[in-house]
Amino acid sequence: MPQLVGIARLAAESPTLEAKRAVEYFELPTRNYLSKCDSPRMPFRRMINPYRGCEFGCKYCYARYTHEFMELRDPADFERKIFVKHFDKAAFRAELNALPRGETIAIGTATDPYQPAERRFLLTRSMLEAFASTSGFHIGLITKSDLITRDIGLFQEIARRHYLTLVITITTLDRELARRMEPLAPRPDLRLAAVRKLSAAGLRVAVNLAPILPLINDSDASLDAVAQASARAGAQKLGGNVVYLKPCTQSAFFPFLSEHFPSLLRRYRERFGRDAYLRGAYPETIRDRLNRIRRRYGLDAPDSETEPELWDPQLTLFS
Ligand code: SF4
Repeated sequence: MPQLVGIARLAAESPTLEAKRAVEYFELPTRNYLSKCDSPRMPFRRMINPYRGCEFGCKYCYARYTHEFMELRDPADFERKIFVKHFDKAAFRAELNALPRGETIAIGTATDPYQPAERRFLLTRSMLEAFASTSGFHIGLITKSDLITRDIGLFQEIARRHYLTLVITITTLDRELARRMEPLAPRPDLRLAAVRKLSAAGLRVAVNLAPILPLINDSDASLDAVAQASARAGAQKLGGNVVYLKPCTQSAFFPFLSEHFPSLLRRYRERFGRDAYLRGAYPETIRDRLNRIRRRYGLDAPDSETEPELWDPQLTLFS
């Protein structure tokens, strides 16, 4: 067996926190909680992912590759071996304090910060508590879970100190389709209810209609239904992008197609066998379609210009 190094060695040596059904939880030693994002296409420069792996098990999940860094190559491992980062409050605060004020930070870029593990380990909440005692960042958090409403009080405090946007992903209103594509994620109606509650609490909420999958959830009617329901629930913005399928994702997605959309399998294999990204007319058509729908429901609001009450561009408030 080859000698494991780096994150793969840490993963292999991680103590088991709990094994539940087919899911095992491990504690992962962590030196840095914030990683850098150098892609100019992304609207943020720092990322936080409290967990590695995600029990929601979406068939199209692009983050499956992150388990490959730990030499875990079975697609099911991403959903069943969940790594909980060891939390050192002082170290996390020190990292935040070292950031320039006005820094853009996204929480949940690779795995869901409100996946089932969060009920037990409260790691996302611990990090939010740290944000609630500082100020001066632009923060976005993205999730598919209505568990997010547990932390409304914390978000209200954070929004007094930072520019905060909460993003709920809703790919379809069709419960059956959602159950097949996103087997353990909360139902679309529960996600919409979360949008409603967060908005009613005065928080800025966007809906992420992604990924958009050709001939599965990309019809005008399907996109329009998500947008209309989101606007009615109080969302201010709608995002969305076309699916991309890298080889490690294909190994989970193609069996799903074979079972539920067998007539699409050959076409998906051909297109994504050549390139993980769809290019040309299709993404342009979807972009135009989304733009029209956004305008139809007023979901293209500019970013908030209202300064948070306790915004402090100088700040270091940690005691
Ligand atoms: S919720 Fe997000 S991170 Fe989790 S499996 Fe689905 S796409 Fe992946």
